[in-house]
Amino acid sequence: MTTAARFAPSPSGELHVGNLRTAILAWLFARSTGRRFLLRVEDLDRARAGAEAEQLRDLAAIGVSWDGGVVRQTDRKPLYEAAIQRLTDAGRSYECFCTRREIQEAPSAPHAPQGAYPGTCRNLGDTERAARRAIRPAALRLRADVAEATVHDVLHGSFTGAVDDFVLRRNDGVTAYNLAVVVDDAAQGIDQVVRGDDLLPSTPRQAYLASLLDIPVPEYAHVPLVLNADGARLAKRDGAVTLADLAAAGVTVDRVRDALLASLGLPPGPLEQALAVFDPAALPREAWVWPGMGARDA
Ligand code: GLU
Repeated sequence: MTTAARFAPSPSGELHVGNLRTAILAWLFARSTGRRFLLRVEDLDRARAGAEAEQLRDLAAIGVSWDGGVVRQTDRKPLYEAAIQRLTDAGRSYECFCTRREIQEAPSAPHAPQGAYPGTCRNLGDTERAARRAIRPAALRLRADVAEATVHDVLHGSFTGAVDDFVLRRNDGVTAYNLAVVVDDAAQGIDQVVRGDDLLPSTPRQAYLASLLDIPVPEYAHVPLVLNADGARLAKRDGAVTLADLAAAGVTVDRVRDALLASLGLPPGPLEQALAVFDPAALPREAWVWPGMGARDA
């Protein structure tokens, strides 16, 4: 059986050095374990025209190569709908008419984890549902029968987190990320997921959903993020943080790559050299603060 890993950027803008560092790590984990490495464009939401091409260009420039063509989530609606149908047939979904505000203002269920959907629409009767449908379109939620789940992560060990009645399909018809990611990873034969540790809290939901769909849970490695000088997650507004901005400031791609590799305790040069000595156990476990780079650092 072939095994595969992936990088799955959202094409909302150019990749910044934090995204590129995660991509390098995903590539190193994949290649060091003999896996194929696939690229999936998560364009269901927040897609900006032109961003995908820029992201692919920058990944290639930094040395991250992928196998086969690029998969786009907007081409895969039938696959998501088939999974939703399966859950619905098994009594595992329900329509939800709540606005964001109603959810915030609803009293939370006893013992429910913070931020969990309070279950307002879980047991609506047919008449009530029909009345609400006439007012606004429904989102579709998972009918979960657990409140938490545990996953294993290569870097974090055992991690237990909340599972609630999360959204499968939004009320504008767009497939929700948690459903799409599980269905796509399964359809692409992905058995290793390396991504930023901001997604660790969503992982128990995804693993639970995978179990409902009889999908094997992949190996997870949630890697530390890159932060700005204030300790917040790095963002485009933090100055020259994309390859294009850095190039304009006189910093070559190779220097950016080498700085990212150094931050991981890995040798400079083409990624193959880092691959030769890559050891997940030796990776830093803390977030890395982006020091900034300019021509003067040459
Ligand atoms: N598209 C997500 C992001 O760019 C990544 C999702 C994933 O790797 O599962 O944050």
